[in-house]
Amino acid sequence: MLNGEKKIARPFRWAMVGGGRLSQVGYKHRTGALRDNTAFKLVAGAFDIDAERGKEFGVNIGVDENRCYPDYKTMFAEEANREDGIEVVSIATPNGTHYEICKAALEAGLHVICEKPLFFTSEEGEEIKALAARKGKIVGVTYGFSGNQMLLQMRAMIEQGKIGDIRMVELQYTHGFSANDAADKTSAAQKWRVDPKVAGPSFVLGDLSTHTYYMSQLIMPQMKIKKLLCDRQSFVGSRAPLEDNAYVLMHYENGAVGRLWTSSVNTGCMDGHRIRIVGSKGSLEWWDNLGGELKYEVQGEPTQTLIRAMPYLDDSCNADERLGALHVEGLSDSWANIYLKFAIAMDAKNRNDEETLKNLVYPDIDAGLDGIRWIENCVRSADNGSTWVEFEYKKAALV
Ligand code: NAD
Repeated sequence: MLNGEKKIARPFRWAMVGGGRLSQVGYKHRTGALRDNTAFKLVAGAFDIDAERGKEFGVNIGVDENRCYPDYKTMFAEEANREDGIEVVSIATPNGTHYEICKAALEAGLHVICEKPLFFTSEEGEEIKALAARKGKIVGVTYGFSGNQMLLQMRAMIEQGKIGDIRMVELQYTHGFSANDAADKTSAAQKWRVDPKVAGPSFVLGDLSTHTYYMSQLIMPQMKIKKLLCDRQSFVGSRAPLEDNAYVLMHYENGAVGRLWTSSVNTGCMDGHRIRIVGSKGSLEWWDNLGGELKYEVQGEPTQTLIRAMPYLDDSCNADERLGALHVEGLSDSWANIYLKFAIAMDAKNRNDEETLKNLVYPDIDAGLDGIRWIENCVRSADNGSTWVEFEYKKAALV
């Protein structure tokens, strides 16, 4: 169980790019990183595309006025001149800016924590992975739901053979908040999501399903997709070529089959984020909006609902427990778990502790790259008339 005591010698000096006053995701980063007070200290930021607003915001959340910078380039340059300069930066800006900011941060000698989808292309991902390796730095990716400990319970039960051989994988991440185009015109955060120049080659495949795809890999690290078929639509026509709905069929190398539905036009749906794994002996099912519960079903037996924080759960699951039984946990705790693992990874990297890194389960640069490849494969299939395509883990030219 986690109680906030230090896991590393001292907190990292941390900065943010983006995540300012009007940002959707910025606060989630801060609740995650600052939860334990022993992993990160927020000391600087270029919080906003609007420099004045960013400075005012930074001061209001307690950052020294002189370390609220007008842009990330100035921040990296000026912080490099300080003895107590930043050591890690989180990038919480729209997708199209991730690559250039990430590259500049690594070149400035910083660890990086970056939003998903990581970059537009896997070539960019490979380049940044190589740069991070040369610089000896960690690149973490904020798949924010993936720190929920019940996902580790699923992983442990599958590994222990509790559901037998996996046959079917059912993934869903849908909501109805973009069922019409109202927000496309009024919300800055929605406008860029449907603009390919800023969002990249997809809308919901990148915005939503990269989370669920990573979580499925976390739960079933042994399962590799052999081929997939993606069918994507833009029900709000002005969003084309970016999709607001997509179905993906998957064939896995072990013979299992899968299906993913991602949508922002699932009208009336407030939070449809579900993972169901069906095996030859039993099934497991987890819903994000009931994240502390895991359904375990064995044919012919009463359904079991496993509840977080209970001693019957796997040690790997309870190790990431924060509040204990009787109290409600949620997304903030998931973010805190991920951020703590980013800190442990960066500390291990700084000490050349490869053993810790090998055993740490967290969304690293490879998870970010896998997310890019997931989008590339889906888009390739969809744009090829929704045909089956072999899943390319690595572009042939790069092998
Ligand atoms: P947003 O439009 O709500 O906010 C973007 C923020 O970045 C704003 O504060 C803006 O001023 C700032 N910004 C833009 N360009 C900047 C620059 N060059 N320098 C400094 N600041 C800059 O967007 P959002 O919804 O918060 O999404 C941001 C990123 O987070 C996206 O990549 C998105 O996919 C991701 N996201 C992830 C999750 C998650 O659960 N991990 C949730 C929401 C969004």
